Amino acid sequence: MQFLNQSFKIFGSTIQNLRYRAYTLSNFRQIPQIQSLPEEQKFAIEVVGHILPFKTNNYVVDELIDWEDIPNDPIFLLTFPQRNILYPHHFEEMAKVLKNGSSEERINEIANKIRRELNTDPAGQIKHNIPSLEGEELIGMQHKYKETVLFFPSEGQTCHAYCTFCFRWPQFVGIDEFKFAMRETKRLIRYLHKHPEITDILITGGDPLVMKAKTLAKYIRALLEADLPNLQTIRMGTKSLSYWPYRFLTDPDAGELLNLFREVQRAGKYLAFMAHFNHPRELETKAVQDAIMRVRETGAQIRTQSPLLAHINDRSEIWVKMWKEQVRLGCIPYYMFIPRDTSAQHYFSIPLVQAWQIFRKAYQNISGISRTVRGPSMSAKPGKVQILGVNEINGEKVFVLRMLQGRNPDWALRPFFAKYNEKAIWLDELEPAFGAKKFFFEEE
Ligand SMILES: *Cc1c(COP(=O)(O)O)cnc(C)c1O
Ligand code: SF4
Repeated sequence: MQFLNQSFKIFGSTIQNLRYRAYTLSNFRQIPQIQSLPEEQKFAIEVVGHILPFKTNNYVVDELIDWEDIPNDPIFLLTFPQRNILYPHHFEEMAKVLKNGSSEERINEIANKIRRELNTDPAGQIKHNIPSLEGEELIGMQHKYKETVLFFPSEGQTCHAYCTFCFRWPQFVGIDEFKFAMRETKRLIRYLHKHPEITDILITGGDPLVMKAKTLAKYIRALLEADLPNLQTIRMGTKSLSYWPYRFLTDPDAGELLNLFREVQRAGKYLAFMAHFNHPRELETKAVQDAIMRVRETGAQIRTQSPLLAHINDRSEIWVKMWKEQVRLGCIPYYMFIPRDTSAQHYFSIPLVQAWQIFRKAYQNISGISRTVRGPSMSAKPGKVQILGVNEINGEKVFVLRMLQGRNPDWALRPFFAKYNEKAIWLDELEPAFGAKKFFFEEE
């Protein structure tokens, strides 16, 4: 390949042209840094990797993970499966069939059985938010909040690496009933015509930026060419800046991709990256910093979001560092989430009260410029619920909460109260305060 080992000049400095190499279950033992790990740990990666999706790549392995700090390195925990992500009985069940040398068929059968026992549809997203058009369900779209519709292009339903906490994992494991995606834009555009209240389309996945520029262009141009005065913002949910910044630097179609971003701007629409960064380490390499600069240069803006994850980013100093660095690089901190009620929630979750303390302490240590961030927020069935804090009212200790986004638009910014609960990790564990039987959103 003529691209190999060529260097590029970007902003006056040289960047190596790295070619993407994926590591999965079938070849991860070839990673040199993996070879010195104890066999038990490698086997655990295999056990968990047979149930939850596992993929990483040469950039994550060589530039992000600090191999001196295994098993505690945050980026290692972020992409390499960990034993405790599974419940012990599930782990043992899979370990047993692997040790027995069972057939591939038998292994798959057990894997699928265990997957079905995990929560594959957090917040009811697969069943509840599917819009319909002329009586037909639009599989591959979700419309929960009035002004924003989600679109899952079928070629974008994978990522440059998989996060161990991912709640979209059922889409990646090859069971058809868990998949939802759309290949054409005709119905999307008809839907946007019929719903003038929609201002934003969020192209998401997976990661839409795994698509070739040409493929993404097909979707974006269809939107730009349709007469959609209501469409203001095209958002892109992506982790590519973090997991494969070379997408914007030296991939063969990097220039084409950046030109496509410019086209959005020229068509009078706003292009917003909803970029996922979970740890300040992901912002430290020269590759990511150059990538951010190149994306911003096209007129696109980058907003950042992440869940608060035990073992990975559960200290306020980590968030302070991350938000400050993001702002320095010209990104806009946007959301801190609470991990969803999905298979790995027991491993990554933090009690709501601690989440609020971490958020508050971090917020106190950043300037107003970074305080665009909102959180901690739960994307729950009724809507996005923000924890405002803990207080005592008439002798009762309560959580003060509010809805940032509601299934019903009228719910936005309605404050409400729940009984204080030190252990609760999710909305469904909270009860209304002051003797009320239901939360206001449960009455409809
Ligand atoms: C978070 C979210 C959005 C976007 O909400 P904003 O607050 O506008 O960023 C849209 N749809 C769904 C289903 C969401 O979870
Ligand atoms: S990048 Fe996003 S969709 Fe992909 S594995 Fe990570 S959390 Fe899931």
